[in-house]
Amino acid sequence: MAQQISQAVRAVMRPSAVSLEPYDPSFSPCRVNLSANENTYGMPAEVRDHVSQALAQVATNRYPKPMSDELRAQIAEWHGVMPEQVIVGNGGDELLFNLFLAFGGSGHTMVDCPPTFSVYRLYAELVETTVRDVRRNPEDFSIDPDELVKAATDASIVVLTSPNNPTGNLVPTELVARVCEACPGVVLADEAYGEFSAAGSSAEPLLSGHPNLVVLHTLSKAYCMAGARVGYLLGSPSVIGALSAVRQPYSVNVLSQAAASVVVSEREAFEPTIARIVSERSRLAGGLSSLERLGVRVWPSEANFLLVRMPDAHRVRCLLRDEHSILVRDFSSTPGLRDCLRVTVGTPAENDEVVSAISQILSRED
Ligand SMILES: *Cc1c(COP(=O)(O)O)cnc(C)c1O
Repeated sequence: MAQQISQAVRAVMRPSAVSLEPYDPSFSPCRVNLSANENTYGMPAEVRDHVSQALAQVATNRYPKPMSDELRAQIAEWHGVMPEQVIVGNGGDELLFNLFLAFGGSGHTMVDCPPTFSVYRLYAELVETTVRDVRRNPEDFSIDPDELVKAATDASIVVLTSPNNPTGNLVPTELVARVCEACPGVVLADEAYGEFSAAGSSAEPLLSGHPNLVVLHTLSKAYCMAGARVGYLLGSPSVIGALSAVRQPYSVNVLSQAAASVVVSEREAFEPTIARIVSERSRLAGGLSSLERLGVRVWPSEANFLLVRMPDAHRVRCLLRDEHSILVRDFSSTPGLRDCLRVTVGTPAENDEVVSAISQILSRED
């Protein structure tokens, strides 16, 4: 149950926070968890061992390096940028928050493209940023390029999620470039799921020519580190400087820095699993598409999840949880996503289970 906030406490809260409720990820312990886009295969055994060895060496009596120096240098080398172009955060979420702290605020506008990750709007409003919506096409979730470019011309922040969560589609890099050129503010390409997309989908090559572009990555999804909370952002030294100025100095703890260093240096070991998730994605999409006669529709995805529409999705989601112990994410009450669920691509056995459970539930209603 969500925690309650009393009227007396609300009365003294920051006005932009008064109507908020504590975040409820609707997590119920389930046998099969396909709700949070985690890597359900887990870390390769040899990397896991090396992480354990590294953690055993960490001294927790000293504060961490504020800018995660060693990890920062490794990430810079990986992505072919200078360390000054990298900032590491306590999950990508912290870096998103810092982006709004540094570039949002009253009198500033953020361009959002819903339906998308709800955190952008939440953080924007929390720091009194005006949110300007450029709604996606309800059929294929594409963004109208001219409408977006027009909306960006006086924005402080434009957020382009590619692949988008929860719709799974990419933003063309040519459009990212156009927006960077039109926008006086910062343009964020959120590539939290970039590892699952076709080569050439990333906006990263645009960094050198567009100093107002920032690209967000996380170790939470492809790299099995959701619980350790490590994300990073690439950008120009100046924008990274602005983000460094507003951040909490010790937000990335010594244990997470040490674990992330091992994961980044052994990142090639994750490639077989990432390839497996991509091939399972098409197998799962095929399985769900075979339920078309029951009213199921699946959208194409470049991420590690699928957006699926089906009759009475909210009820299906509850039955999956209560009768099959399978957890998926319910978006059925999100504007533009009527009757939609988001299913994380899991192991072959998990994917088979979710297809057969949905099939059973929907057939029963016939
Ligand atoms: C998961 C996610 C992130 C960041 O996740 P962290 O776990 O905080 O690193 C950022 N953007 C999108 C769209 C995501 O889905």
